[in-house]
Amino acid sequence: MVISGKELAAKLKAEMAEQVAEFPGKYGRVPHLVVILVGNDPGSQTYVRNKEKACDVVGFKHTTYRLPEDTPEQEVLDRIAELNADDSVDGILVQLPLPRHISETKVIEAIAKEKDVDGFHPLNTAALWQKRPNNTCVVPCTPMGIIKLLEEGNVEIAGKKAVVLGRSQIVGLPISKLLLDRNATVTICHSRTKDLAEVTRQADILVAAIGKAKFVTGDMVKEGAAVIDVGMDLDENGKLCGDVDFASVEPKASVITPVPGGVGPMTICCLMSNTIQCFLNRFTQK
Ligand code: NAP
Repeated sequence: MVISGKELAAKLKAEMAEQVAEFPGKYGRVPHLVVILVGNDPGSQTYVRNKEKACDVVGFKHTTYRLPEDTPEQEVLDRIAELNADDSVDGILVQLPLPRHISETKVIEAIAKEKDVDGFHPLNTAALWQKRPNNTCVVPCTPMGIIKLLEEGNVEIAGKKAVVLGRSQIVGLPISKLLLDRNATVTICHSRTKDLAEVTRQADILVAAIGKAKFVTGDMVKEGAAVIDVGMDLDENGKLCGDVDFASVEPKASVITPVPGGVGPMTICCLMSNTIQCFLNRFTQK
């Protein structure tokens, strides 16, 4: 079965739109997401436009600051400080990657953790790994989207062997923790893993997040595995594809996500739900 992230995201955004429509009556306003985009990276421009469209669908107020490529780091940090202090702003997202002269670490740490809708702030990361009770931390969008896709596909996680390809801070590590929290037995692979195919063939749930076009082929996958393809790569013809070779893997998989139309739309959908979470936290934690 192919799980459509596009369809699931549309359904969840429609539900969120209904929820948001009630906010003015309950809280006096709707959530406000601010996006900062520095420079002219074409991929980032597209991502930001898609985020703006999603905000319109769910009914958020949104503001995008498009800053020139040569914007000094301090100017970005000052802008974040202003937004942190602005009571009318619920979520702040700085589109990555940033131009080389701007430190991503400094920028991520500058965003107030309560407005960190990407869930990249070290305090949100720590809260995720400590699994604190009454946890109101924000979980990164792509991993949360993967969990929702697995739920949509009725994939049982508890007791299953999950193999995650990739150990990045934004995908590989947090999805491993979310799967572990749901009682999977998790193996994390990376560029130094030996006999990778041996490991992937044991997976009941296989998450590919390495950034290598069509890397995972049918012979690397167990019959009946659930396969989630996070990759956003370009194939030999310059067309968008995933880390998974869909043609050879799909016949073996019990469920699989396509690229495009799989994890990507769910990432944006979870950005919307994280913004609602930050908005609601501000009213309930006062
Ligand atoms: P990243 O930071 O570049 O990390 C890639 C990871 O893959 C690293 O941990 C690396 O290992 C591992 N790796 C690389 N080659 C490998 C190999 N041959 N065998 C095993 N592991 C290997 O990438 P990322 O930011 O996590 O993104 C991964 C992919 O997901 C990219 O295509 C990206 O565009 C996509 N992505 C999609 C979304 C979405 O919303 N759909 C969101 C985020 C990312 P080492 O640690 O040893 O270097």
